[in-house]
Amino acid sequence: KKLGLHEIRKEFLSFFQEKEHLVLPSFSLVPKNDKSLLLINAGMAPLKPYFTGIEEPPKRRVVTCQKCVRTGDIENVGKTARHATFFEMLGNFSFGDYFKKESIKWAWEFMTERLEIPVEKLWISIYKDDDEAYEIWNKEIGVSEDKIVRLGKDDNFWELEIGPCGPCSEIYVDRGAEYGCENEDCKPGCDCDRYVEVWNLVFSQYDKDEKGNYNPLPNPNIDTGMGLERITVVLQDADNIFEIEPIKSIVKRVEKICQVKYGTDNKTDVSIRIITDHIRAITFMVSDGIIPSNEGRGYVLRRLIRRAARHGKLIGIKENFLYDLVDEVIKGWKEIYPELSEKREQIRKIVKIEEEKFEETIDQGINILKEHIEKLKKEKTNILDGNTAFKLYDTYGFPLELTKEILEEEGIKVDEEGFNTEMEKQRERARKAREKEDKNAWKLDFTAELGNLKTNFIGYDKLVSNSKVL
Ligand code: ATP
Ligand code: MG
Ligand code: MG
Ligand code: MG
Repeated sequence: KKLGLHEIRKEFLSFFQEKEHLVLPSFSLVPKNDKSLLLINAGMAPLKPYFTGIEEPPKRRVVTCQKCVRTGDIENVGKTARHATFFEMLGNFSFGDYFKKESIKWAWEFMTERLEIPVEKLWISIYKDDDEAYEIWNKEIGVSEDKIVRLGKDDNFWELEIGPCGPCSEIYVDRGAEYGCENEDCKPGCDCDRYVEVWNLVFSQYDKDEKGNYNPLPNPNIDTGMGLERITVVLQDADNIFEIEPIKSIVKRVEKICQVKYGTDNKTDVSIRIITDHIRAITFMVSDGIIPSNEGRGYVLRRLIRRAARHGKLIGIKENFLYDLVDEVIKGWKEIYPELSEKREQIRKIVKIEEEKFEETIDQGINILKEHIEKLKKEKTNILDGNTAFKLYDTYGFPLELTKEILEEEGIKVDEEGFNTEMEKQRERARKAREKEDKNAWKLDFTAELGNLKTNFIGYDKLVSNSKVL
């Protein structure tokens, strides 16, 4: 069935409504009363009080389509087929009501009967010791043994320091060998784009105490999450999440603005995809009341706007363009999220001011570069050291290409090896910070990632601190 993004969302919500779930609208991207979390990153995040029992849920069965932001995935955006910083997560939830058997049965029914995904394409992962899940998948659903992969705690066990926790089971779709990698052991869990993880079922069945004991919960919970963009890609046999509407319309608009054809050069394509992804995150974040600033959520937003603007420069866009692109996002999602149209003027204004500020930063960088050029000329050398080039990149948002272009006119080269070394060091720092975050995707803890953002973009902080912040 070649359903579109909006149609699949509707199918999902009505499917679970038929199974007596209460349909709740997406919560804001800004968490309420939750200091552990910067931005909502999963469907279950805003429902946490119902899982911990702090609040009484309006119904024991709930279904949502939740706006999510995961900047921890930012390095993958535009490169893998399946990662976005902003995405929508479909999820069905049971607060002490139904459990493993029903959630597996319904997930399978939705995938194979409602969406009509061929059974041969589906793979399952379970937590290595979860024999109960294995029995259900194998005996009751009839998934063959060779299509059930057992994964370890890192991948398939969800837990916080203490409190409700439990094993997960994931549904993967095999998109075929053409998406595969060299790895002989390529199977669900592999990093490549062949087996796409679409749905994660979390069986929170234990209560972990301070001593690390896992005590079985009398009324275990169900928490599931399925990426709406990913399942749409699968259903439409699209190459990646940028090939499906309405996301594709944003790509086309960017293509028009930069006047470079999409699909001709991988580097430009990555930039176009990054801009497309980030403008979605930006528009939705501002519509939920976030404004660019030097800390917290505002800082994430500032980083996204500047990163998108930087990629705009990379592909030759001279004028401010992001504020205009906002309309494309609004057009695509306004029926589902009325806050987008309601805040249109405000979103455009906020994005425009931030773009202009970034322009100033770039100007400062150009002045610094000019000083270096003078100095090099006096010293009669024609190579700019990698460290300086990296600083221009890191602090003033100068892509290496831009630095090279300016220097070329003066007959000066860049020590690219030196630049790459600095870049590698930076990546390593970011990777370490992210590693922690990745493991915590379901743990709702973004502090590690926040630290990572801070070191990356400290330069902007300094630079914009005396200019007017909104
Ligand atoms: P992956 O391993 O592919 O990074 P994940 O295990 O981190 O995904 P979960 O935390 O299990 O993802 O989230 C539930 C579902 O949300 C995933 O199965 C996937 O369909 C979707 N999802 C997760 N991260 C992203 C993302 N960055 N962009 C789009 N969809 C995502
Ligand atoms: Mg995963
Ligand atoms: Mg997962
Ligand atoms: Mg992930």
